Amino acid sequence: MTEAPANQASPLEPYNPFTADPVLASAATREGAGHAVADLTDFGRRVGTNEMFAWGFQANKHTPELVTHDRFGDRIDEVRYHPAYHSLLEFSVGEGIHASHYGSTPGDGGYVTRNVKMHLISQVEVGHGCPTSMTGAVLPALREQPDLAAQWEPLIRTTSYDHRLIAATKKTGCLLGMGLTERQGGSDVRANSSTAVPVNGGGPGGEYRLTGHKWFTSAPMSDAFLVLAQAPGGLSCFLVPRILPDGSRNSLHLMRLKDKLGNRSNASSELEYTDAAGWLVGDEGRGVNVIMKMVNSTRVDVTNWSVSLMRQAVTQAAWHLTQRAAFGELLIDKPLMQNVLADIEIETEIGTLMVMRLSGAFERAPIDEAEAQFSRLASAVGKYWLTKRSTPVVREALECVGGNGFVEESILPRLYREAPLNSIWEGAGNVIALDVLRALARSPESADAFLAELDLASGADVIFDRSVAELRTTLASDVAEVDARRLVEQMAVCWGACLALRHEPAIADAYIRSRLDGDWGSEFGTLSRHADVAMISRRAVPTEVTK
Ligand SMILES: Cc1cc2nc3c(=O)[nH]c(=O)nc-3n(C[C@H](O)[C@H](O)[C@H](O)COP(=O)(O)OP(=O)(O)OC[C@H]3O[C@@H](n4cnc5c(N)ncnc54)[C@H](O)[C@@H]3O)c2cc1C
Repeated sequence: MTEAPANQASPLEPYNPFTADPVLASAATREGAGHAVADLTDFGRRVGTNEMFAWGFQANKHTPELVTHDRFGDRIDEVRYHPAYHSLLEFSVGEGIHASHYGSTPGDGGYVTRNVKMHLISQVEVGHGCPTSMTGAVLPALREQPDLAAQWEPLIRTTSYDHRLIAATKKTGCLLGMGLTERQGGSDVRANSSTAVPVNGGGPGGEYRLTGHKWFTSAPMSDAFLVLAQAPGGLSCFLVPRILPDGSRNSLHLMRLKDKLGNRSNASSELEYTDAAGWLVGDEGRGVNVIMKMVNSTRVDVTNWSVSLMRQAVTQAAWHLTQRAAFGELLIDKPLMQNVLADIEIETEIGTLMVMRLSGAFERAPIDEAEAQFSRLASAVGKYWLTKRSTPVVREALECVGGNGFVEESILPRLYREAPLNSIWEGAGNVIALDVLRALARSPESADAFLAELDLASGADVIFDRSVAELRTTLASDVAEVDARRLVEQMAVCWGACLALRHEPAIADAYIRSRLDGDWGSEFGTLSRHADVAMISRRAVPTEVTK
């Protein structure tokens, strides 16, 4: 090894991912979280420490282990995690990211604030976001069964992370998960074959015995799961605890943990139920309607995570390029590199604007019909688009860092492995695109709300106006199933352009000419020479590094 390390970037740690992202801060303020800027600034400082980043690396290197039996041969069905994973969950639950927003009043900015926190912590480690997200998301579904909600809600809404495998009533806080997917199908849950037999007549809130399997159940050390199974009255939703009220173990057996591409800190299991006790949530036969209340919430988190991955990757790339020289100049000053960085920065900023706009609409939906209609479509369009854009953005950011980007310590390989998962979770791409068609057919008002949103930028750009006019025509026609993805993409880029024109005009022209007018190549870094790539690429460089 030669003496002085030459021409290597310094680590971007510690840094504050909130103050480093003015686009996020202003979008969050617009959507109602302005009162929380000081809190978010402090949160960002605590998230961006060396210790937090170290936990992220450790939790993904030392992955969860399944222990099916104890040394005497008795089944225990436990997953052992590295202490760093527990530290991450303790932090996020302690901050209330799992459930604080279920106590806030719609419109007070509580949910938007919580989503900014989820966005920031997920840049450091996203695997523990799965149980964090699912736990609170259970509440809207569980409230369909008020007696069960009354028992569990206080245990869910504490800020205490208690990972002991004991009866929920003896714990200071609980985590919850979901079990939908079976071997024969995940998207088509109506094909579920697990059965639920009523005990003492069953009925809403009543006890059943569940038998069957779940092919994917993440966070299997959760205290309870919402599970779909076939009851006499059809597919139904059940609350299934791991430990029964008398302290004995429910009959749930962990068969295997999945050896996954990414999301490795989080365990995902194959689970068998043998006469396991579960309690019916809502009416028999309404399982899909009930569980969708949970899925709708986790879907926003999945969308948010995609943008977190993009932002962290682009920030790391920009940081590197400001310090690495090649051919006599810093890479950030090379015109072609500026084009690449500007292109992925634009994509990430649009993602940030979309996810914050969606968070605000989702929060206000219960008190504002127009927001409810808008979020019905925007949540699906955003989920489809951003979970897809994440992978190519992260890949290109990784390349900006060169060989170092391919090395684990840079964080980029982990971000890259995480990126494709979000487009599978909570409805894979086609399923979401078909959901958009379903929403258009069932509630045409949602199309009106979506177009009304686009009209807010009407007149600001001729290409934008033309694109929206074309979209309006398409939406008025009968869109065939085969064209669903094309439609969703058209909606997404029009929405992105609208947000840029209204809130980030510095990137609007480059976005519109490339994404709407087709003046673009097949890869990032092909913006037209008229785009101000020097200025846009600089927007990616974290401005506040040490605060
Ligand atoms: C890491 C990980 C963790 C997971 N954790 C959980 C969990 O905790 N709980 C849980 O219940 N599930 C979990 N899942 C399962 C996940 O939700 C499913 O994988 C997902 O819903 C897709 O289901 P599937 O795998 O059966 O694929 P399929 O349903 O077979 O879909 C395969 C492909 O077909 C497409 N497709 C489906 N229907 C149509 C159609 N009508 N027209 C056109 N294309 C279609 C889909 O878009 C997809 O691309 C997890 C998965 C992963 C990878």
